[in-house]
Amino acid sequence: MSFRIILEHQTLRFAAAHFTTFAGECEPLHGHNYALTVEIEGDLTVDSWVLDFSEAKSLVRNICRELDHKFLLPLDNAALKIAASDGEFEIKFGDRRYVIPRSDVAELPIDNSTAERLAEYIAGRIVDSLRERGASNVTSIAVGVEEAPGQSGWFREALP
Ligand SMILES: [Zn+2]
Repeated sequence: MSFRIILEHQTLRFAAAHFTTFAGECEPLHGHNYALTVEIEGDLTVDSWVLDFSEAKSLVRNICRELDHKFLLPLDNAALKIAASDGEFEIKFGDRRYVIPRSDVAELPIDNSTAERLAEYIAGRIVDSLRERGASNVTSIAVGVEEAPGQSGWFREALP
């Protein structure tokens, strides 16, 4: 038996720029209006909920706010040459070279900014935040990252 809450789309959005690399290629720089779906499963607390909706929304919104209007930089991407200085990032792929102020960059510990990896990253951030709040009743989490209507990548994880 399990219970689950689902947070969807409307208020869980961010707009960001990125490119992914694949099979020796690199997409042109472009952006998406990302929309999240978050499913949190667990046992009921003494208040008979898995997690207070407003608390859940606020923690996901905080993560959206960090990513909003940023360039999503996959720091672990082996196909990109990434050099960081105090004020900016220089990112190279072949002959292409981008210099972006650090303040415009979301520095992500992922290998590619695919919807799937973004979903995994966001799920990890939500789990960290839930643990900080002592929400030990949560048993699994799933995050869907929609890049465009009808097109999303998902990550799902059972929590120990
Ligand atoms: Zn894209």
